[in-house]
Amino acid sequence: MKTVTTRKELTDVLEKFRLKNATLGFVPTMGALHQGHLSLIKRSKENNDFTVCSIFVNPTQFTSLTDLEHYPRPIEADIAMLTMAGADILFMPATGEMYGDNEKWNLDLGGIDSMLEGMFRPGHFQGVTQIVYKLLKLVEPDKAYFGQKDFQQLLVIKKMVEVMKLQVKIVSCPIIREADGLAMSSRNIHLTRPYHQAALLISATLFRALEDSKQYSVNETLNRALEILSLNELLTLEYFCIADAASLLPVKTWSDSKNIIALTAVNAGKTRLIDNQFLKQADFIS
Ligand code: AMP
Repeated sequence: MKTVTTRKELTDVLEKFRLKNATLGFVPTMGALHQGHLSLIKRSKENNDFTVCSIFVNPTQFTSLTDLEHYPRPIEADIAMLTMAGADILFMPATGEMYGDNEKWNLDLGGIDSMLEGMFRPGHFQGVTQIVYKLLKLVEPDKAYFGQKDFQQLLVIKKMVEVMKLQVKIVSCPIIREADGLAMSSRNIHLTRPYHQAALLISATLFRALEDSKQYSVNETLNRALEILSLNELLTLEYFCIADAASLLPVKTWSDSKNIIALTAVNAGKTRLIDNQFLKQADFIS
């Protein structure tokens, strides 16, 4: 695996790949890699001649400086994992390489960026689209791979690609979970045992919502989920929403949409966790 840290180096290396007329897959990450990230690398390798991965803890998408400072950065372990996984190029820029002074970014994403995650983390998706746009322009991949774990992010990126008319196919990949059901996340290492145990309620509640959806109304399913998640004293619920999977607007009945998803954000102590589960999936294209 070739590791590069500057835009110039990356462009030079990519030039060689492009000369071979090869297809390029791209997996942007913030590092602290786990099997979820590696599943994206694997998918990219299956579908492309070459795979580029980036590791960049993007400051503009953080809404709290403490969160940014505490974000895990186990770079040597990351490099070892990517080498094992067979990534071809790792792009690992410093902040100054990606941002100039006083850069402005305000993209009209039609409101999908300001609901749910956007309500609790204002400006988060502007920061996400700002960096993903820069990376996509730089790498110019044929396909870029994102996890459904960050479902709203996936929709936001697809919207950004449409608005900015980028020539890239966004591929969404399924959520990878721990054996106990917890969705893998770089933030999970912050969970002490009791918080990890409590956090298991998140996926358990989503799975139960799927079961409930077969016999209860949307409202009943929602209330049963809210009850579990708001009663545990180690968890603080931000939202639990049952929504149309394209607009993320809440549904009232199961026939409101062909694709319905439950999305939730919960704080387990100081660790913010998100997860989701389709409750009805007819033609949502992954
Ligand atoms: P991050 O490093 O958290 O910015 O994530 C980089 C990419 O990995 C994003 O597209 C995430 O959606 C994806 N990802 C993170 N966790 C998982 C997971 N548990 N399963 C699948 N994809 C994931």
